[in-house]
Amino acid sequence: MAGMGIEDRHHLAPFGTGGTARWGERVTGAVVGSAVGDALGAPFEFGLPGVYSGRFPDGVGTMCGGGGWDPGEATDDTQMAVLVADSLLERGGLEPADIFRRFQRWAVSDPKDIGLQTEDVLTNGEPWDRAAALHFQVNRRAAGNGSLMRATTAAVYFAKAGREATMAAARRIAALTHGDAAAWEGTAIYHDLIRAALTGADPLSAVPDALAAVHPDHRARWSTVLAPDWHPDDATEFNGAVWPCLGSALWALRTTDSFERALGAAIDLGGDTDTVAAVTGGLAGACYGLPSIPARWTTPLHVPLPGFGDRVLRAAELGALARKLGAGSGT
Ligand SMILES: [Mg+2]
Repeated sequence: MAGMGIEDRHHLAPFGTGGTARWGERVTGAVVGSAVGDALGAPFEFGLPGVYSGRFPDGVGTMCGGGGWDPGEATDDTQMAVLVADSLLERGGLEPADIFRRFQRWAVSDPKDIGLQTEDVLTNGEPWDRAAALHFQVNRRAAGNGSLMRATTAAVYFAKAGREATMAAARRIAALTHGDAAAWEGTAIYHDLIRAALTGADPLSAVPDALAAVHPDHRARWSTVLAPDWHPDDATEFNGAVWPCLGSALWALRTTDSFERALGAAIDLGGDTDTVAAVTGGLAGACYGLPSIPARWTTPLHVPLPGFGDRVLRAAELGALARKLGAGSGT
């Protein structure tokens, strides 16, 4: 990337009306791309920066498995995203109580990974519309990336409804497990950037309009991490927090010119690698489209769904799910 300005780099990507990816390729790219990022990053969770590029000097890598994960196995990020998708499609719209019930059924079925806060909110016995708020009242810390990580499916579903509606839906789904409005706003921004990317726009150019729709109390902090000159080294929290997670995903998108390299850059940051890569993969997949995701990543991809029988989604099923989500009116 040396010697290339941000603007120059942009024009290498298939953004805008001259792009090659069509709507169907973008919606499938977003959903499959997020799952691929999740599975690719999972073996590197909580590692240091540079571990990924040390193992894969090409910066791209393979679905290697490790840390308890089989090669290509998607984690809680994608599992919860599928639960959201199933609810939206089966209920024909947003029914927060139904999503919460699905989350609960999954949470008590021994998933390999579940966020600490998410687990507490889903198992504390409080009703769906109070559990996260009560948790936040007691703990005062609820700005993890756990609502952002699962947002791609809903972002695809609500894209056609426009900015205001998709951001409103994002906040409501985020609030099921996260009581801190910083997480709601970050998830809302992500929804709007996915919406922009699915229309063929450059999500990086869409950041100012999304920020303008953020709650004023949270706008300054989000503006900082989404600024074009922000670098993951500037983060003031671990990237398991919502701000540096989304900031890092945009940085990965901004500083690379392909789906593969965006994911490699995201995972090489270390830390919460599955989630940073899941968020990066959703955005990059929406930009570059499904054909940009290599078969050596999609072939081993699989998403178990604890609590929902033996159902395991492979890339083809995720693609079909994405097309149904993208076909809806998003109401
Ligand atoms: Mg995970």
